[in-house]
Amino acid sequence: MHGEPCADLAAAIGQHKRKQNEERKAALETDVVDQVVADHKRACPKCVSDDMTTAEPQERADYGYVPGYFRRRVHRQEVLVCKSPS
Ligand SMILES: [Zn+2]
Repeated sequence: MHGEPCADLAAAIGQHKRKQNEERKAALETDVVDQVVADHKRACPKCVSDDMTTAEPQERADYGYVPGYFRRRVHRQEVLVCKSPS
């Protein structure tokens, strides 16, 4: 008998493949691209103070195919926060 694989089996295979993809993505080599705030944008836009301190950087990730393998590239954007009371 050559029956169709049952629905449960198909679902289990689908789940397994999704898990494999997630694991592959998590294991990707990561490049971090540091991006600093430009000199002319380092002053507070509200009070024009340049007494600024850094905060938690904002990160976004994209995925690119570099010949031979996938890599994750994290763009880490410097974030400035005004230290003057507003
Ligand atoms: Zn300010």
